[in-house]
Amino acid sequence: MNNFGLDIWANKNFIIEDGEIKLNYKSMPSLFEIVNTIRTDDVKGPLILRFPHLIKRQIKTLYNYFEKAIEENAYKGNFHAVFPLKVNQFPAVVAAISAQGKKYNYGLEAGSKAELILAMSKTRNGANITVNGFKDEEMLTLSFMAAQSGQNITVTIEGLNELETIIAIASKSNLQIPNIGIRVRLHSTGSGIWAKSGGMDAKFGLTSTEIIEAIKLLKEANIIQQLTMIHFHIGSQMSDIAPLKKALREAGNIYAELKKMGAEALSSINIGGGLAVEYDQHEKSYARNYSIDEFSSSVVFLLGEIMDAKNVTHPDIFTESGRFIVASHAVLITPVLELFTQDYQEKLLDFKDINPPLIEELKELNRLLNNANCIEYLHDALDHMESLFTLFDLGYIDLQDRSNAEILVHNIIKKALYLKSANPTNELEQLQVKLQERYLINASIFQSLPDYWGLGQHFPVMPIHHLNTTPLRAASLWDITCDSDGEIGFNPDKPLYLHDVNLDEEDYFLAFFNVGAYQETLGMNHNLFTHPNEYTIQINDTDYNITNAIESKTILDILASIGYNKDEILNQLKSKLEKSSFITEKEKNDTLAQLERFLYQNGYLRTTN
Ligand SMILES: *Cc1c(COP(=O)(O)O)cnc(C)c1O
Repeated sequence: MNNFGLDIWANKNFIIEDGEIKLNYKSMPSLFEIVNTIRTDDVKGPLILRFPHLIKRQIKTLYNYFEKAIEENAYKGNFHAVFPLKVNQFPAVVAAISAQGKKYNYGLEAGSKAELILAMSKTRNGANITVNGFKDEEMLTLSFMAAQSGQNITVTIEGLNELETIIAIASKSNLQIPNIGIRVRLHSTGSGIWAKSGGMDAKFGLTSTEIIEAIKLLKEANIIQQLTMIHFHIGSQMSDIAPLKKALREAGNIYAELKKMGAEALSSINIGGGLAVEYDQHEKSYARNYSIDEFSSSVVFLLGEIMDAKNVTHPDIFTESGRFIVASHAVLITPVLELFTQDYQEKLLDFKDINPPLIEELKELNRLLNNANCIEYLHDALDHMESLFTLFDLGYIDLQDRSNAEILVHNIIKKALYLKSANPTNELEQLQVKLQERYLINASIFQSLPDYWGLGQHFPVMPIHHLNTTPLRAASLWDITCDSDGEIGFNPDKPLYLHDVNLDEEDYFLAFFNVGAYQETLGMNHNLFTHPNEYTIQINDTDYNITNAIESKTILDILASIGYNKDEILNQLKSKLEKSSFITEKEKNDTLAQLERFLYQNGYLRTTN
């Protein structure tokens, strides 16, 4: 049975049971059940489901593996982690991070003023705040205020000008000076599509010459005691561990050198983020070549080795992994609105009492097709179809015969494709691309899967029910934006098969997994589709609670968010209707009420049952 690569990407967070996908945790609710419960409340459109227990699992994994590596390597420094807010700043996520990370003193990382404000208000005293990215005097002053409020804050400088600004603020204010980190510009680069943060031409970090200059400035200003951290980040979703090892050697040696140059308070190395998540659904290409076990052991072992060789005390290790922590916690559920080419359904076959002999033969081929004979039978079927088309053109068979022939041949091709899906021939691959079914999903790829649109990043996708029947339709997914980029095409190398469902009789839901990192704030309002309705699902031993429901913006609010005046829009629409001639006053009032109801709904389609 097709399990949609669950064993590759799901990390045992989900299992398939009784034809449905279920949370593999405590009371193990099925996604279908959760979705139906939410939808009883007249909720339509796409949904984002958040599972805080999956955030907890990742935080625990990160800390446990580093602590294990520290013990195994008799490493002397401590492990600290912060969550980089840019990966997901939504309130329910930050709340889950705080609640689940409390035990570990898990902190937050900020890369902009707004994120810094969020970090300052949400970080428990004692936990760390790190600040990266480009900063002006105001942003640096905010970090002084955080230090003044007793927070454990480290500002990583990206250039000498930032250090000069820090020195200037220190000399003109009495605020506490934050800890200072230096982002080093590595000559080694990362790997994968997001690896742009290292190398000679990198956007961030100080060169060796600049680092030496920074030490001089810090000493002159008498604040060298504030320099506590060396930082690097070689890019997100590292596919290969080798570049990280190179970066560690480079940064480790810089650290040891700086200690020798008199940076006595220097006490930690921050290795940034980059820990990868498995997004692949097909066995062929795994997204990364290392495990969290190898990752943590390598970091701890290498840093210990470098420091021992240079006779320097082991530094504390900081990580800023974001994707790894939150990617798995969110699932995007999209109802399927329509199957575009459902015209070849078997139930539409309408045989006569006496059918042309070639149709009878097609019926037999369809009935008897199996793994061993399928290529031969497929060729017979295609051949018969050609002959039947000729017979039709010459007037020997009628439209009903032709329709039956087309449905039968399509069915035979579909079955052959499925039977040979593990090992398709060239011919089959070409047929597959021609025969794909287009599933229209009630969602916007621009809003909910922007990395698919922008970078071709694949997200695992599967139906949440029907999983005890074999899906036969080669599927491409179309979203409801009016943009031809809003499509996830069928890829013969990484095929997606979905079920033939009759949407007049039942709903069909697809789920996209691992969408918890980056997608939500990167998502854009193309065609004015906004962030979907979201729900936080707390699973307990016997049941589950749906909490923290946040509805998608209403149509009027979407318009207001780009600068329109809601009342004006509403009044303009109303006055037009009021002026038009209705037969009865009641009809007019009903129409106005209906209009108003529409404007206070979200902009997604409401056509599913
Ligand atoms: C984006 C970013 C991270 C997070 O990277 P992930 O790949 O999501 O773990 C960490 N540190 C810095 C400086 C970043 O810019």
